[in-house]
Amino acid sequence: MSDYKINTKCVQSGYTPGNGEPRQIPIIQSTTFKYETSEAMGALFDLEAEGYFYTRLQNPTNDMVAAKICDMEGGSAAMLTSSGQAANFFALFNICENGSHIVASSSIYGGTFNLISVTLKKMGIDVTFVEPTCTEEELNAAFQENTRAVFGETIANPALTVLDIELFAKVAHEHGVPLIIDNTFPTPVNCRPIEWGADIVTHSTTKYMDGHGAGVGGAIVDSGNFDWMAHADKFPGLCTPDDSYHGITYAEKFGQGGAFITKATAQLMRDFGCIQSPQNAFILNLGLESLHVRMARHVENGQAVAEFLDAQDKVSKVNYSGLPGDRYYELAQKYLPNGGCGVVSFELKGGRDAALKFMGALKMIAIETHVADARSCCLNPATSTHRQMTDEQLEAAGIPAGLVRLSCGIEDKEDLIADLTQALAAI
Ligand SMILES: *Cc1c(COP(=O)(O)O)cnc(C)c1O
Repeated sequence: MSDYKINTKCVQSGYTPGNGEPRQIPIIQSTTFKYETSEAMGALFDLEAEGYFYTRLQNPTNDMVAAKICDMEGGSAAMLTSSGQAANFFALFNICENGSHIVASSSIYGGTFNLISVTLKKMGIDVTFVEPTCTEEELNAAFQENTRAVFGETIANPALTVLDIELFAKVAHEHGVPLIIDNTFPTPVNCRPIEWGADIVTHSTTKYMDGHGAGVGGAIVDSGNFDWMAHADKFPGLCTPDDSYHGITYAEKFGQGGAFITKATAQLMRDFGCIQSPQNAFILNLGLESLHVRMARHVENGQAVAEFLDAQDKVSKVNYSGLPGDRYYELAQKYLPNGGCGVVSFELKGGRDAALKFMGALKMIAIETHVADARSCCLNPATSTHRQMTDEQLEAAGIPAGLVRLSCGIEDKEDLIADLTQALAAI
């Protein structure tokens, strides 16, 4: 990890060209890599030597960008994935198997909710959801003897709940399992979960990290802080020999700092192939270079818009952890002292109908199934991203049917407020 401040890491980490080498990271658009001898390549397959052999598993461009994200989060190792969904799947499946159990916050992204509650369940992995605001006792009660991971989001998409990371980490560790945090919304510019005890951090880089709506991607960062060997009975995949790699024991051979990402690369990338294309990794890196500048503007606009909406008669509730009256204000002061992100959600009096009328009247702010982008956009989760959830599940996830999720971009806040003003008048 470098000693630079986060603003410098956004620009400089991950790649330092040598004399006469390209200033920008090279796009290594090659599926395969050439070796002089079969023995040299065999050593790569056995994980006895470091290097590249096939881009389904690893690519140098991706690794430079992953190294930057790793440094930004303060981790020991990282990898890029094809999407945020793939990142969360890999992070969980790397340590869970048929018969395992996960404790997860109920306030998480709809895609992750489906992944955990439907698809992982089909693979024999069970889950207990807890409220993000649960007490220590309630959290403790959710654990089972087969629990292998705790999962939550720093700022949940779209409910905008803020997780008490320190509490979740403490309880996870008391039960001998790691805490996995999806840090997509604040990005490491505004929160670094590892500093609060999280063990694994995931990202949908599709959001602020790319920031321009240009490339779908994901990332996983390992803190290197979780002692797998101390809980070897729980994590046989990391702590016992892998027959598909000549009996390598990841936690022994690659240590606490390298085992998790090496296993996810060698096994899960090999078998599932959810690799990010080097072109997308290059685009992602361009986004990262300005992430710190953009996040400050997203927060400025989010705060201004939240305050504006909070003062409107037609708005019954505003969710934004930067508002002093918000349920998560205190937690945000602790975990997000520079602000969280540019996403604001609010309920209109008049529910679903008012929400659709309001959105139809917007001129600049677009209706999109996207969030955390340079351009402002909004959606009604109940009729789009979360339409497969029942009303009870929506309520449990803190997403009433009339909620509008508004992602404030980096335009001028006065233009955003003007667009909102005229759309509110149309209800
Ligand atoms: C979008 C999102 C995901 C899924 O990411 P994709 O890149 O769309 O696969 C996961 N978690 C959070 C918090 C998200 O916002």
